[in-house]
Amino acid sequence: MAAKDKCSFCGMPSSQVGMMLTGLTGYICDSCVRRGYEIIMEAEQKKQQETAKINLEKLPKPKEIKEYLDQYVIGQDDAKRYLAVSVYNHYKRIVQTADEDGVEIEKSNIIMVGSTGTGKTLLARTIAKLLNVPFTIVDATVFTEAGYVGEDIESILTRLLQVSNYNVPEAERGIVFIDEIDKIARKGDNPSITRDVSGEGVQQGLLKLLEGSVVNVPPQGGRKHPDQKMIQVDTKNILFICGGAFDGIEKKIAQRMNTHVVGYQSVQNTAKIDKGNLMQYIMPQDLKSFGLIPEIIGRLPVLTYLNPLDRQALRSILTEPKNSIIKQYIKLFSMDGVKLTFDEAVYEYVVDKAMEYKLGARGLRSIVEAIMIDVMYEIPSGTRKTYKVTLDFAKKQLEKANLGRLQSV
Ligand code: ADP
Repeated sequence: MAAKDKCSFCGMPSSQVGMMLTGLTGYICDSCVRRGYEIIMEAEQKKQQETAKINLEKLPKPKEIKEYLDQYVIGQDDAKRYLAVSVYNHYKRIVQTADEDGVEIEKSNIIMVGSTGTGKTLLARTIAKLLNVPFTIVDATVFTEAGYVGEDIESILTRLLQVSNYNVPEAERGIVFIDEIDKIARKGDNPSITRDVSGEGVQQGLLKLLEGSVVNVPPQGGRKHPDQKMIQVDTKNILFICGGAFDGIEKKIAQRMNTHVVGYQSVQNTAKIDKGNLMQYIMPQDLKSFGLIPEIIGRLPVLTYLNPLDRQALRSILTEPKNSIIKQYIKLFSMDGVKLTFDEAVYEYVVDKAMEYKLGARGLRSIVEAIMIDVMYEIPSGTRKTYKVTLDFAKKQLEKANLGRLQSV
């Protein structure tokens, strides 16, 4: 039996400690409890750092990353290459050791520009599946400057902490995809005179994260509550991928190209310009004209673009990707024991309608859904083992569905 007035760990008499806790067969003083807690925390942190280590040998190389993306995303070769290289370099930076040569690889955050529905989010999601680092997608539109209604910019990192199970070293090497970055552009090229709560202020806040700094993150997200214990996260090694439609930026690109092309040589160059897809000529200064502050642009050194989807791309998207829309329906039916097939002409028709109503790739799903809804309602209760979707049937269903309604998708 332990002496009643002594700590069983350090032997300190109770008269000399702040507090003594009583156990079944012994006693422990407050300073031993504290020390014990520190030892446990240190050990846990070490364990977390160990698990955060990655082996560069085992990582997918840029070519493999691109090949993987090819299985799910049609076209967009430039964007895929940029992403593959950036992500691979991101890993290298994580595993780099501060050796004698003094060379430190800095991170290269990425910005992808392309019309809505061309595959920006799909690229980001697909790459996330392949990676073994924490990954999250956030929408820039929900953020406002600190002190205003909306979410604080720091809560971008809350999501990352959540997907890493609050393992801070793990989160600190993660990747964040910030969607709709164009929505926080300031209105116009000039610094605002009035306060621009959701524009420039948010960009300033975001800058801090992109640059790499230690940020206090609210573990539950949302507004900072005075009583919420913050978690410190260093963003130095977090890779940020930004995406935005930048509607109307083609005009800025055209303006820049017109003003810069002077003289005989440039007349020749202009002849080669593909006017139907100006996005491919995007340069950092166009982002500035659109309303991103130069500091942000400087922190997003990798700039790439997505092509608009033409008829052929839409046709491929319908059936080719590993989890294409059509393959998904075939699977849905096979789960009911029904073999679903489509007339080739149905595919062409679906693409025609998506083009006609300018619905883009997102519209393909709505159109197929409208065609299939009645069949999906009936089939599970029936006895059929096969079902073939014909062009006539597709036309009839779509007319009934009133396609105009889908345009708001
Ligand atoms: P964005 O983020 O550019 O607005 P998304 O990536 O969300 O567009 O695309 C919307 C949907 O359209 C995707 O879920 C996918 O089904 C389809 N899609 C768009 N672009 C492609 C593409 N290049 N390859 C395959 N599917 C695509």
